[in-house]
Amino acid sequence: MNTIDYEQKGVVFNMQRYSVHDGPGIRTIVFLKGCPLHCRWCSNPESQRMLPNIMFEAAKCIGCGRCVQACKNGALSKQNRFFVDRTKCKTCGECVAVCPTGALTIKGKYMTVAEVVKELKKDAGAFRRSAGGVTISGGEGLVQHEFTTEILKACQAQGWSTAFETTGYADPKVSEEVFPYVNHTLLDIKSMNPTKHKEQTGVDNALILENARRIAELSQVTVRVPVIPGFNYSEEDIRAIGEFAKTLPHVDTVHLLPYHALGSNKYEMVGRTYEMETLENLKHSEVTGLAQIITDMGLSCVIGG
Ligand code: SF4
Ligand code: SF4
Repeated sequence: MNTIDYEQKGVVFNMQRYSVHDGPGIRTIVFLKGCPLHCRWCSNPESQRMLPNIMFEAAKCIGCGRCVQACKNGALSKQNRFFVDRTKCKTCGECVAVCPTGALTIKGKYMTVAEVVKELKKDAGAFRRSAGGVTISGGEGLVQHEFTTEILKACQAQGWSTAFETTGYADPKVSEEVFPYVNHTLLDIKSMNPTKHKEQTGVDNALILENARRIAELSQVTVRVPVIPGFNYSEEDIRAIGEFAKTLPHVDTVHLLPYHALGSNKYEMVGRTYEMETLENLKHSEVTGLAQIITDMGLSCVIGG
């Protein structure tokens, strides 16, 4: 019997209930902070930093100035395009406490495994009725691998199925620690081309491809491909990913996720500029030809997923 460290702490930035897209059955998704990749299309820019960070939503601000007065670090100013100077902000939360409209929030809070499980227990009935469970997402849960492992172990001890949405980017030793406790992995494979991969995500793909094999030996895998014009939106790119997926054990399905500017509004809120503003969303009908390439290889393919 595995011992579980319920006091292990990590940084969680969201828990989303009743999801039906991130693993089998009805699931609760636990979003963890921290990601070693910086994909240009990332829909959760607030997740990339490992520590809690402040978000400012200009549309909710009524300009009352209470937060500026409350901040002892001089981090807030209307002269600043993003309102918050993140080099000065200590994420103390004083401004959040006095803001009457919720324009300021802090994303990410420290939780113990016991606190996470206590929240998840509220959904245990839905997990049981739907053969669902818990999905770890992020960010990249491999960054906080000790915390992730303990949550997964605790979920399995409750009899809940575990799923993990991951980039697969981590030390191979970390994969061996985490994936024995994962029933189903949703593994992003973004490109087989190392140069393009590095340009668009900030990291080389060699470690991801190496880990993919290890992960597929340890859990059931669905390969997920964000389809991005100007990056991998081509028959050649998708065929190469499909061919790689076919060589992995326990791969049942490939999900093609057409580009959508989801989360682009959050970039301003975390003090950044969204680099892909001019890119049009891809329609379902614009990736059906790519899906056919995957199914012709004998894999099942879902658009969206
Ligand atoms: S969280 Fe604290 S340091 Fe940061 S802007 Fe608000 S009051 Fe200032
Ligand atoms: S307290 Fe809230 S509403 Fe008032 S200026 Fe600050 S962010 Fe805007």
